[in-house]
Amino acid sequence: MKLITIKEAIDFVKKDVKPIGIEKVLISDAYGRVLAENLKSGSDHPEVDVSAVDGYAVKAGDIADAAEKNYIKLVLADTIKAGIEPGTTLRHGGTVLVFTGAPVPEGTDAVVMREDIQVDGKEIIFKKPIGSGKNIRFVGEDFRKDEIVVSKGTTIGAAEIGMAAEINRSYLFVYRTPVVSIIPTGDELLELGDTSPGRFAIRDSNSYTLIGLVKQAGAKFSVCRRLKDDPIATAETIKAELDRSDIVITTGGVSAGDYDFVKKVVPEIGVDVIFHGVLQKPGKPILFGKYKNNRYLFGLPGFPVSSTVGFLLYAYPLIRALAGFSDKELPRVKATLKEEFHRKKGKREELVRVKVDYNIENGFTVKPDTKKQGSGILTGMVGDTALMDVPIGVTDIKKGAEVIIILIKPISSFGQLS
Ligand code: AMP
Ligand code: MG
Repeated sequence: MKLITIKEAIDFVKKDVKPIGIEKVLISDAYGRVLAENLKSGSDHPEVDVSAVDGYAVKAGDIADAAEKNYIKLVLADTIKAGIEPGTTLRHGGTVLVFTGAPVPEGTDAVVMREDIQVDGKEIIFKKPIGSGKNIRFVGEDFRKDEIVVSKGTTIGAAEIGMAAEINRSYLFVYRTPVVSIIPTGDELLELGDTSPGRFAIRDSNSYTLIGLVKQAGAKFSVCRRLKDDPIATAETIKAELDRSDIVITTGGVSAGDYDFVKKVVPEIGVDVIFHGVLQKPGKPILFGKYKNNRYLFGLPGFPVSSTVGFLLYAYPLIRALAGFSDKELPRVKATLKEEFHRKKGKREELVRVKVDYNIENGFTVKPDTKKQGSGILTGMVGDTALMDVPIGVTDIKKGAEVIIILIKPISSFGQLS
């Protein structure tokens, strides 16, 4: 097994990856998807000059000399509601009452807010001047006809959905969401609720952790097919799922054990093994392969923390790239280490589980939980956890040092965020 570095492995995974396809969705279903087209407007917005306030359209010059003691009266010529075509042109000496969003009559320089005038029968009293252009939303100031209002590759949020509606689009072309099949392997695995084999069996938690991770990455979970350590069933099932899904993720069966059949059968079913074994801790025996028609296989190790870290480092960026997201890898940020860190060997890059805190003054601060670093210790991943990236060759990091952490959970899910 030739081991490569994490960086090399990530580069292999991301190499030549393109979004897998395009589909049409209603704008109400588009939230969180990635736009696969440039959104262009068919008209200017606003389409005409409109009032930004409830007030009186004026020619600025008519009230240029207005003052508290030297007020100026203009004759009310018309009233225009929003959505109505103006029937009048504004003439010198006249004013028109316009409501917010109403088109201003031709000849208008500015709109004086209702709060700033007094009404005297059919005449309106102005006691101060107004700058030209005030309180008018000019034609095209938001966007012009044929302007790109949302670019291809943008992740669609609320504002982008609103923009689509503003330009009268009821559907959008977005990148297709990758579909993922999960295949946990191992004779020892026990389904939820099953208690028959007693204390020696191991509850299959990986399937469920992975369903969560698939959702976090923005992919679709297709199916979970739990297998015994049986080479024939393993080969057949992986192949069948590769023929149906974009990504197949197995757990277990990739290390050096006699019953580790995943790594043995994978080359036989037409998977091109790109790497098997990365200089990382946890998750060293990870396998990555490519299958025909842009299908991908991750053979994650069985231990729950190893499989989770393997997913986050490699499957996550692959899913993001296939789904068209511009952000592919999980965010890496600087943090301050609150306690010194020591490890015996520095042969592998280590992803140390740390508890993370954040506040405005100190930014991110982290503390490794030394007792919770085992590959099978899933409690080390629960809660406000991040992964501290300890490079190859580094065995000691001083308290107070700046470290790099990978934010493996959305920031909004941190309980301690303050
Ligand atoms: P393996 O990589 O197949 O040698 O598995 C290593 C260890 O990971 C096993 O001995 C189990 O303790 C654990 N394990 C394997 N599969 C799962 C699973 N689906 N859920 C939870 N733990 C697992
Ligand atoms: Mg196994």
